[in-house]
Amino acid sequence: MNRRGNLITRLIGSVADLIGVEPRAAVARPATPAAWSPAAALAAERPPSSLSAFALSTRPPSGRRASDSVSFDVACRTCAGAHFRVFAFPLIAPDPSPYYGLEPGDTFNRPPHRLACEGCGEIHTLFDIRTDGYDGVLNGGGATESGDSGEAPIVGASAVTITLIYNIELDELQEYASEEGRHPSDLFDAFVLYALPLDGSPPLELVYECA
Ligand SMILES: [Zn+2]
Repeated sequence: MNRRGNLITRLIGSVADLIGVEPRAAVARPATPAAWSPAAALAAERPPSSLSAFALSTRPPSGRRASDSVSFDVACRTCAGAHFRVFAFPLIAPDPSPYYGLEPGDTFNRPPHRLACEGCGEIHTLFDIRTDGYDGVLNGGGATESGDSGEAPIVGASAVTITLIYNIELDELQEYASEEGRHPSDLFDAFVLYALPLDGSPPLELVYECA
């Protein structure tokens, strides 16, 4: 069953649009009606349990975004700080590279991803594709390779926004969640991590298909 279509292609083309940040050369656009899909609205009300280590501020729905997505700005539960270093398990792609979109020598910033608060030093997991999202909960993990050694910060102090996609009918989502004893918001189809460094470096955009 391929109900997700070209989800990743769509996401990678428009991460900035997806989370509602203005592109660098933003052109004023007329306001358009904004609404969440029923599944995205559920997640806006109650974010996934995997994010419970963080304080989340829900971004309002935006007509510029897909209605099946919901975005959250991330803050620290301990000190309320809003800047984090982002960790990953970097791997240099070998030659030939077995990874789609990565040339030999490119760095593959493998999940899971932890965030370290710049204010107080608390570190918590933000995303683990082995246990989070639709495939993580229902199918034993997503397709993307995870790392288990060599964890390192991949970007310095940054404002972090995450976006979750629910490309599924509400009835179906609730049925699967109920069978697993989970909340529907836990079964997101895609996870986007967007980190905007304070020092003006280019933003980090990581997109994961989770279904
Ligand atoms: Zn903190």
